[in-house]
Amino acid sequence: MMITKQDTPRHKGMRERLIGELREKGIKDETVLRAMQKIPRHYFLDSAFDKIAYEDRAFPIEAEQTISQPYTVAYQSSLLEIKPFEKVLEVGTGSAYQATILAELGAFVYTIERKKELFDVRKSRYPFEKQYAIKIKFFYGDGFEGLPQFAPFDKIIITAAAPEIPQKLLKQLKPGGLMVLPLDKEDGSKQVMIRIRKIDDTRYDTETFEDFSFVPMLKGRD
Ligand code: SAH
Repeated sequence: MMITKQDTPRHKGMRERLIGELREKGIKDETVLRAMQKIPRHYFLDSAFDKIAYEDRAFPIEAEQTISQPYTVAYQSSLLEIKPFEKVLEVGTGSAYQATILAELGAFVYTIERKKELFDVRKSRYPFEKQYAIKIKFFYGDGFEGLPQFAPFDKIIITAAAPEIPQKLLKQLKPGGLMVLPLDKEDGSKQVMIRIRKIDDTRYDTETFEDFSFVPMLKGRD
């Protein structure tokens, strides 16, 4: 594995400012903030974004997709309440930044991407040390189907705008497990973040949080 980027004191400084900004915006989970302080976000972006990688914004990556905004990554990661050694399913690998934050939080991550181009690049050129690479398994497939062969999962995170709650994913969640997803609002403009706690095979608790804006979760593969 080749690490072509460098994490300079300047990058670290910019990252520290970003963490301060996230705290001001209301992120309280210090474990998540520490993980985001540690992981260089610019490793997951084209070098053209080097100077702005630590702005609290989404940026374009390959295949017309995006790396989520840091606030969104912090928000979803906090809602997941990750504990070390948990098995986590992520829908929407994208840049693999969110997957790396989950790995830094101690999770074993199973991440699915529907765009072949993104899957190929992430799997072959994951920009990080082996200690992370061994905790993330990359899959090319449709997140609506999940990964029944690896179920059940302690936690599930969807990082694209879901048109509905994917029922197959609920089945792949452990009792007591959490699923966090941005769900399309009725007017189609934005998504509302929801967290579902599975009590057992027939009972679920749902909580509603803030509005966000994600790229769409699409059926099938490209
Ligand atoms: N977690 C990513 C965010 C990527 S944006 C990151 O940290 O960078 C959302 C991603 O979800 C896109 O790459 C998109 O191709 C992917 N996606 C959309 N629908 C999907 C589906 N049904 N299954 C798997 N991936 C999907």
